Amino acid sequence: MTDSYKHKGLRKQLIAIIKEKGILDENVLNAIEKIPRHFFLDSSFTEFAYIDKAFPIGNGQTISQPYTVAFQSELLKIKKGEKVLEVGTGSGYQACVLLELGAKVFTIERQKALYQKTKAFLPTIGYNPRMFYGDGYAGLPAYAPFDKIIVTAGAPFIPEALVQQLKVGGILVVPVGEDVQTMISLTKISETQIEQKEHGSFRFVPLLEDKADGK
Ligand code: SAH
Repeated sequence: MTDSYKHKGLRKQLIAIIKEKGILDENVLNAIEKIPRHFFLDSSFTEFAYIDKAFPIGNGQTISQPYTVAFQSELLKIKKGEKVLEVGTGSGYQACVLLELGAKVFTIERQKALYQKTKAFLPTIGYNPRMFYGDGYAGLPAYAPFDKIIVTAGAPFIPEALVQQLKVGGILVVPVGEDVQTMISLTKISETQIEQKEHGSFRFVPLLEDKADGK
């Protein structure tokens, strides 16, 4: 795998497009400019890597649209050293963006084949989040609490375990809804109080509830 000048040039163009769509956070833009997204797609599809679109990654799943990755990352307001939980590892691209933002990343995937593929792949390109095979609805109680939590699949409701595993002052970003999701950012004000904000409509693959491998 090579990251050529052509790829770097395409990434610069992608950054310009994402900026135009309203992403202002320089750290997020720098992270996306740095990560070779074409490494995450099968080699026959590399020309699609820098188009601002979601793309199939096998096992019926998708790598999120760069704008959506940027939008969710911006809402998380990550500071260096924060502990971040991602639900829905998928290709691992979003996890790499979180690592570039300086987070300590814990990520869960429920599809075993995808989990294994991404776990083997990310270290080969220099990224080492903690990766877990399991059900994102349950979060990772053994590693809680987290400063930030991001869900990268459409959740029919906000999973209560994730709110519990958030630190006071922490932020949970989750797309909520069935066919179309509303992006929600939830801030935990105190152990008993939350504040929720809505940030427009998005489309994600569903956050599935049963633990068995989804095909
Ligand atoms: N963040 C990914 C995109 C994820 S697509 C990336 O950057 O490529 C959503 C992912 O969530 C899929 O891989 C899907 O298998 C996973 N998923 C769906 N339901 C889940 C659950 N209950 N727990 C953990 N992962 C889940």
